[in-house]
Amino acid sequence: MHQHFSPDYATARRKFLKAAKAAGAAIESIPHPLKGIAGEDLFTDLAWLGPRDASAVLVTVSGTHGIEGYYGSGCQVGWLSDGHAAQLPAGTAMLLIHASNPYGFSWGRRVNEDNMDINRNFIDFGTSAPPANPAYAEVHGWLVPDDWSGEVAAGIQRRIAAYYDKVGARAATAAIVGGQHSHPDGVFYGGTAPCWSHRTVKAIAETYLRQAARICVLDFHTGLGPFGYSEMICRHAPDSEPLSLARRWFGDAVTSPAMGQSDSPIIEGNLRMGIARFCAPATVVASAIEVGTLSSDEVRLSVIADNWLHLRGDVFSPLGQQIKRQIRAAFYPDSDEWRSLCYPRAVEIQRQALAGLAAG
Ligand SMILES: [Zn+2]
Repeated sequence: MHQHFSPDYATARRKFLKAAKAAGAAIESIPHPLKGIAGEDLFTDLAWLGPRDASAVLVTVSGTHGIEGYYGSGCQVGWLSDGHAAQLPAGTAMLLIHASNPYGFSWGRRVNEDNMDINRNFIDFGTSAPPANPAYAEVHGWLVPDDWSGEVAAGIQRRIAAYYDKVGARAATAAIVGGQHSHPDGVFYGGTAPCWSHRTVKAIAETYLRQAARICVLDFHTGLGPFGYSEMICRHAPDSEPLSLARRWFGDAVTSPAMGQSDSPIIEGNLRMGIARFCAPATVVASAIEVGTLSSDEVRLSVIADNWLHLRGDVFSPLGQQIKRQIRAAFYPDSDEWRSLCYPRAVEIQRQALAGLAAG
């Protein structure tokens, strides 16, 4: 399994295209307007397996949070390479979306080219205002410092701990990581209009999923929860049909932030629920597969450091490279142990999704 994973975006893309071709997939590559960290061209690549008129489709997505694409890409390449593609149940098809945020993947960022967390950007901006997060303004000043050093980082950790003590864990997490639409230079910024990835995924859904009556979306993420454990975070309404289908298909791994069952805060505007909206009135079961890496303190600090780096620092300086290693370790523990925990589980979840879709 380890050979399916890659050390950088360009290698991941090459492996994905090669494996998709060998599996007999129909491939489309959508160019991104900017270049990657090594000057390479960037794309969101698609692989379609199975009949184009299938009424049940499993969609997998990697790289929504850029750097988390190391995990998702490895899972997609493995799925294409290990013979699963030839075993789709009758009446089902698969759409693999590789690098929904290719800029963030290549540059080793969780966010995109606009410093946006695209998983906070899939709001229906035409009909609703972005959700307000007034508490973010209280923390923004010290989450986005002028300079960066070990001392500054330790100071931020102390202030975060004090803030958690003051307002409680749930409110503090919601304020800091829940998403904000007011500070473009801040962390977990969701934007005020659809970003490139939002527009691109919408066009993909409208082109490829128009005929589907039943869809499952699995979006591969990392950085939350116990090391190597795969949590399935579902943001469907507590009493909804998609949530009960998810529980039937995936069992106890499913958690619902709306029911207080996840460490993840309530988040509006995530990509997979965007696909559900684009595909209405199809029945869409949408879930993140969220794999734990390091402690939440370390993960959060790596995002804050990376935000400072791209706002005020130099990516190619020694400090910049140190921060790049830090954020990479936080979202992709490059170890056989970690991959051995999460990769077989991803295969199992995709099989469960296909079986659920095929059962109707
Ligand atoms: Zn993520």
